[in-house]
Amino acid sequence: VAIEAGILEKNDRIAARNRALLWAKGIATINLMSSPGAGKTALLEKTARVMGPEIEIAVIEGDQETERDAERMRAAGVRALQINTGAGCHLDAAMVGRALGTLEPRDGSLLLVENVGNLVCPALFDLGEQAKVVIASVTEGEDKPLKYPHIFRAADVLVLNKIDLLPHLELDADRLVGHAERVNPQLRVFRVSATRGDGIDAWCEWLRAQVERAAGKSTAHT
Ligand code: MG
Ligand code: ZN
Repeated sequence: VAIEAGILEKNDRIAARNRALLWAKGIATINLMSSPGAGKTALLEKTARVMGPEIEIAVIEGDQETERDAERMRAAGVRALQINTGAGCHLDAAMVGRALGTLEPRDGSLLLVENVGNLVCPALFDLGEQAKVVIASVTEGEDKPLKYPHIFRAADVLVLNKIDLLPHLELDADRLVGHAERVNPQLRVFRVSATRGDGIDAWCEWLRAQVERAAGKSTAHT
């Protein structure tokens, strides 16, 4: 436990440095977390296609192995850098700090960070982001927020994805959202289908507000 506290303390220091650097450049950084298969990359692809023409977007992809998600994002028209964590099951602030040096996201851009698929430790590791988003899909079950409360508590936003599948499932989406809101009453909720496009307008509207907020932090504008 003592070792873990030391690791987290060090991570928090690096995260604070990342955050200061990102805000100085007016970059809106969003940390996207979910279990594997909830549709993080699909949501990012859709977001890139909708918002790419109006806002400069860069993506950091976290996975244990392969370059596949970064390739998908490049195919969606945005700059993307893949981080492979090997045995590691989360991104940490040092990895993101190094990625920033390579990717060099432009001033005033939107930086989307797709964390490693995992609902446990990504909740503990601050990356220096402006906001945390947890993505759950309707195929995962209503009790996810009760089983993994830390990540739902840490998040600013819940994206409930794959709502196009609801007619085929027993799941009660209102119950899932209710559980999430009980764990975190401040949680902002978007119900979306990344593939069909439902709810994407509201999600992108929230992202635009994040970009504006980051611009307000930028030392270039004060
Ligand atoms: Mg992915
Ligand atoms: Zn981990």
